[in-house]
Amino acid sequence: MPVFANPGTDGAVMSFESRYENFIGGKWIAPTKGQYFENPSPVNGKTFCEVARSTAEDIDLALDAAHAAAPAWGKTAPAERAQVLLRIADRMEQNLEKIAVAESWENGKAVRETLAADIPLAIDHFRYFAGAIRAQEGSLSQIDEDTVAYHFHEPLGVVGQIIPWNFPILMAVWKLAPALAAGNAVVLKPAEQTPASILYLMSLISDLLPDGVVNIVNGFGVEAGKPLASSNRIRKIAFTGETTTGRLIMQYASENLIPVTLELGGKSPNIFFDDVMAADDGFRDRALEGFTMFALNQGEVCTCPSRALVQQSIYSDFVDLAVKRVEQIKQGNPLDTDTMMGAQASNDQFEKITSYLNIGREEGAKVLTGGEPADLGGDLSGGYYIKPTVFEGSNSMRIFQEEIFGPVLALTSFSDYENAMSIANDTLYGLGAGVWSRDGARAYRAGRDIQAGRVWTNTYHDYPAHAAFGGYKQSGIGRENHAMMLDHYQQTKNLLVGY
Ligand code: NAD
Repeated sequence: MPVFANPGTDGAVMSFESRYENFIGGKWIAPTKGQYFENPSPVNGKTFCEVARSTAEDIDLALDAAHAAAPAWGKTAPAERAQVLLRIADRMEQNLEKIAVAESWENGKAVRETLAADIPLAIDHFRYFAGAIRAQEGSLSQIDEDTVAYHFHEPLGVVGQIIPWNFPILMAVWKLAPALAAGNAVVLKPAEQTPASILYLMSLISDLLPDGVVNIVNGFGVEAGKPLASSNRIRKIAFTGETTTGRLIMQYASENLIPVTLELGGKSPNIFFDDVMAADDGFRDRALEGFTMFALNQGEVCTCPSRALVQQSIYSDFVDLAVKRVEQIKQGNPLDTDTMMGAQASNDQFEKITSYLNIGREEGAKVLTGGEPADLGGDLSGGYYIKPTVFEGSNSMRIFQEEIFGPVLALTSFSDYENAMSIANDTLYGLGAGVWSRDGARAYRAGRDIQAGRVWTNTYHDYPAHAAFGGYKQSGIGRENHAMMLDHYQQTKNLLVGY
């Protein structure tokens, strides 16, 4: 299996610029205050580029450009916007390896995931929303003999979007595709930990977009994100990130009554009922694979199944096999296509996770495997690697209640169905959940009773564009994906017409 060369070195499929500016009005524009920040790769901890450090003045410039572009873009026919989205998807497909390597280098995630999942999914989102906007229809109601009510959609205008670092390109595309399809102009702020892969993507697709329709402003949360979310020149703010930041975004937006979509944190339960051990046709194997999903993307997934609940009657047999499976996860250089688990995305995140490894021990949880950083040596010794870790404990512990956002599983047992539901729902969050059982009625009931926006049954971690995604409780407000998402980026206009 190939190992991709580091970006910018001999034989590499792509290279980053050494400095990235903001992308505003179709041009690369230096930040008003002339400041930049360093961007290290988590693969080896070394800086590979510097990026514009923006302030409110830069957000204003981007909003000027977006406002200049929005009216004409909003008036284009849905078929025309769909064509733009399809061309972007084609361009991304032609550059799949380059984008996958860029994303892997900047975020630390395994390139086999970016090649097979993250980037193809992003491409499919553009294609899905190209189709969805063409299929969108309004409605007509007869009010009485002399009056009809038309309902149809209008773009909001200029929208703000703020995204996290865990799936830099996919998170950008989840937001850009529906917003653009619906006819809006966008100002998007990437996470300060992972701006370069999005900027690299923009360098590949910028000629396909009218100037000012997509503007990317880089920088930190309070310096650049807050002025965007607080602006009265946007008609919506769509945010993905931590629940604590989501609360702030809502406060800023409330000043101007700006609608929010919030995609926030999670502490998702993954429930294994007793019949998984008896299954002999490959189902048990799939369930064991499902158990390891907490380590996918280094555990940096909002729906990470970070709590495993295993029925008492099968607990010791199932957990024995499952922990062995976790120990087979191959950690290594993210650019090696054999690697299953790469580096944590930043040093801050690495330190946060290691602090939770200590918290888990201090509160009495038992380490079944992992529990420490991984020293991969050589060129990778400066990178941020942590062993996939399984803690056994109880649901009241902090490691069961707080989002760690790393490859750390909190495992416990349950006695019966009611006990499983009570543990699963004993959380502030409600984003994802997994249910593993061949008993269709029980699996259906669990899907109904778990308070979460996405419940996977006998599978985990699929994110098709046509399945609505979003949180209950403190995991968020609103939904992403699915054609219903278009409604979140449009006004509904009613014309009441008398003859
Ligand atoms: P974060 O909240 O720290 O940052 C997210 C973004 O918000 C970044 O661009 C950051 O610069 C910006 N930001 C930070 N403070 C801000 C402020 N005061 N004003 C405006 N902007 C601000 O989150 P993160 O650490 O980048 O991402 C991890 C979190 O994202 C996890 O909690 C994870 O669960 C969540 N997440 C949720 C989903 C979902 O769909 N629900 C998807 C991916 C990640």
